[in-house]
Amino acid sequence: MQDMDMTKKNKIYIKNALLPGQTVGDVLITENKITHVGTVPESECQGAEVLDGTDKAVIPGFANTHTHAAMTYFRGYGDDLDLMDWLNNMVWPVEAHLTPEDVYWGSKMACVEMIKSGTTAFLDMYTFPEGTAQAVEESGMRAVLSYTMFDQGNEERAKLDRENLDKYLNDFRGFSDRVQFSVGPHAIYTVSGKQLKYAHEFAKEHDLLVHLHLSETYVEWKEACRKYGTTPVRYLNNLGILSPRLVLAHSLWMDSEELQMLADNGCSTVHNPASNMKLASGYRFRFDEMRKKGIKLGIGTDGCSSSNTLDMTTAMRLASFLAKAWSGDPKAAPARDVFESATKTGYEILRVNGGEISVGSVADLCLVDLTVPEMTPVHNLISNMVYSACGSFIDTTIVNGKILMRNRVVEGEEEVREQFLKHCHDLFERSKKTTNKK
Ligand SMILES: [Zn+2]
Repeated sequence: MQDMDMTKKNKIYIKNALLPGQTVGDVLITENKITHVGTVPESECQGAEVLDGTDKAVIPGFANTHTHAAMTYFRGYGDDLDLMDWLNNMVWPVEAHLTPEDVYWGSKMACVEMIKSGTTAFLDMYTFPEGTAQAVEESGMRAVLSYTMFDQGNEERAKLDRENLDKYLNDFRGFSDRVQFSVGPHAIYTVSGKQLKYAHEFAKEHDLLVHLHLSETYVEWKEACRKYGTTPVRYLNNLGILSPRLVLAHSLWMDSEELQMLADNGCSTVHNPASNMKLASGYRFRFDEMRKKGIKLGIGTDGCSSSNTLDMTTAMRLASFLAKAWSGDPKAAPARDVFESATKTGYEILRVNGGEISVGSVADLCLVDLTVPEMTPVHNLISNMVYSACGSFIDTTIVNGKILMRNRVVEGEEEVREQFLKHCHDLFERSKKTTNKK
C-alpha cells in the first residue's frame, strides 16, 4: 500500500559512483532536483530507488545547443557537396514535402539517439515545431524549440511566419515546462532585416530566445559586406538586435571587435565543429578568445544531415582537437572548458539551472560505463569524456528526475525505429514523384 501514498516523493539514490571532481560518492535525486552530492544521510534515502554506481561515473547530461532534430531523415543523404548546392538541390526539395507527422517521427528517432548518447537537453530549429514538441514531451527530454522563419524576401511567407509565431507561442502552452518555444530566424541571407527586427521584438515581448545561424561561411560574410555594407555581426548591431536572448550557431567568420560586440551585449555562440568541417564552412572558431571575453559558448552537433550523428562526445572531441590544430597550441580548448561548454554553459544558454552535479540543479544526468577499454584507467574523468568516450558508453540517462534509459534500454525504441523508417521511405518516395513530374 506504500506506493499508493501520494505524498511519497520520487527519489533516486545513486551509490558509490565516480563524480566529476574525481571523488567517489553518492548522489540523491528528489523529484526533479539533485538534493545531495557526496554523502547522503541514511534518513534521506528511505524509499529511494537505488542505482549501483560501482564502475560507473556520474556526469551532467549534455546540452546540444544547435541542432535540427528531425533531420535524422537526411543522415547520409547528399554528403560531400557545397553548402548551397546541398541545401538547394538535396535538402530543401525534400523538406518541402515534410508533414508535421514526419517531423514528429524524425524527432522521436533523434530523441532516442540523444538519450542513448547522454544528451538530456537541446536547442532545435525546424519547421513544424509542434511535431518536435510532441516527440520531446513523450521522450521525457528537455528542449527549447525554435520555429524557423524563412521568407527569402517573400512578403507572403514573412507574414505567415509572423502569424505562426503567435500560433506556436500559444500552442506550446499545452506542453510541460521541459518543452519551451523560441524564435528561429534561419539566417541573415534568408530573412530580411525588417523580419529580424520583428523576431527580436517578439522574443523580447514574450521572453524567448532568438536562435539564428550566423557567420557560417565565407560566402555569407562576403555577401553581407556586399549587400549590407558591413560584416554579419556589425549588421545585427546596426539593426539593434544583439541581446542576451540571441544564440548564434556557427559564429565562425568573426573578428575580435565583433566578438567584443557579442560579449558586450551578452549574446551566446554555439560551436558546431563536425558540421563546419564536413561542409568546409571554416575551422577558425575562436573558442578560447570567446570564453576569455565572457561570451556564453555552447557546443552543438547541428543536424544529422551535416554532422552525421547527434553524439556530443564527438562534438566535444572535434571542438578541442580542431582548436589545437589551427592555433598550433596544444593548450587550446582544454577538455575541462569544452566539457563545461557542453554541459553547464549549454544549460545556461537554455536558461535552465542544470548541467552540473550540484545541489539544486535539475536532475538531468547520466551514468557512464567505466569498464570499457577506452575509459580505462580514469586518471581524469573529464579528459576521458572529451578525448576517449563514445556516446555508446552512456549506461543510464535521467532527465528531470526520470530514468529515460537504463542499461542502454530506451523504452519503445523498436517502434520508433520502425515508424521512422516507414515515414522516411514515404517522404523520399513523395519527393521523387514531384521531382520526376517537373
Ligand atoms: Zn544548423
